[in-house]
Amino acid sequence: MNKNINFTVILILVVVIGIGTVIGIVAGNFLFNLKYPEATAEPTGDVNDTAESTSDQTTSSTDKPVDETPKKMIALTFDDGPSLAYTNDILDLLEQYNAKATFFVCGSNLTVSTKATLKRTITLGCEIGNHTFSHKDMKTLSEEDLLAEIRNTNEKIAQYSGTDYKCTLYRPPYGNINRSAMDKLYDNGLRMYSIHWSSDSMDWDYQNQYKKGQISRDEAIRSTFDTIVRETTEGTVILMHDIHEITPDVLKLVLEKYTAEGYTFVTVSELFGFTENADKEAYYNRYRSTNSILPTTK
Ligand SMILES: [Zn+2]
Repeated sequence: MNKNINFTVILILVVVIGIGTVIGIVAGNFLFNLKYPEATAEPTGDVNDTAESTSDQTTSSTDKPVDETPKKMIALTFDDGPSLAYTNDILDLLEQYNAKATFFVCGSNLTVSTKATLKRTITLGCEIGNHTFSHKDMKTLSEEDLLAEIRNTNEKIAQYSGTDYKCTLYRPPYGNINRSAMDKLYDNGLRMYSIHWSSDSMDWDYQNQYKKGQISRDEAIRSTFDTIVRETTEGTVILMHDIHEITPDVLKLVLEKYTAEGYTFVTVSELFGFTENADKEAYYNRYRSTNSILPTTK
């Protein structure tokens, strides 16, 4: 009899403890859910919901900058134009490959005939630089002539652009410049960067050899392309001329190769991060950084 009573008491205790435990767990979960509603949210396991959730994440991630890695950039530059014969072929290719470039024009080539080409160059997001008015060696000019060569070209670019384009770069013909000439420009209010190059295509030389019958046209194109490739890497400024017949064909090879390798073609100002108002310090820094590739300097 006592055994039965003991058994009943134990049974009641087990049931009470069991019910208490269940109530405790349920109440605990309820309170936890109240405090941390997101922590306990579980996926429903429904395939469609999961798919939606995934696509939601994809959508929200496109609102943020997708790729934080720096761009691999190359600056293509074309001197001596604009030319009626070839500049537009070059612009066609740049447009096709969504590439930008910088054109160092001579003031004497800016005419009523080339005005539309200049405008198109700017409209496509390319940059215009100053290559003097009449392709003069800047080191040999008097101060008066030097200022006129740069000023007159700037004025013509502004006038023919239709947008009062402000030219902030110049490229000395033959790469001939020195500190004295740069100071004369700067001290007379022409606060412009002197831009050289780090990959010389030698397109003019191969074009000459082809025209003289020393090499075939294909060899001239291939040799120019190979010359560029030998000297080109991230941050390279490539020198070409938009006045030579082979240059558009060379450009096509360059655009194909480096686009496939993930490069972006930018203007010189984009490559160097120039701001609109170049200060004196930036001007000299740029001079020093290009010093090693100047053919002749003081
Ligand atoms: Zn030139």
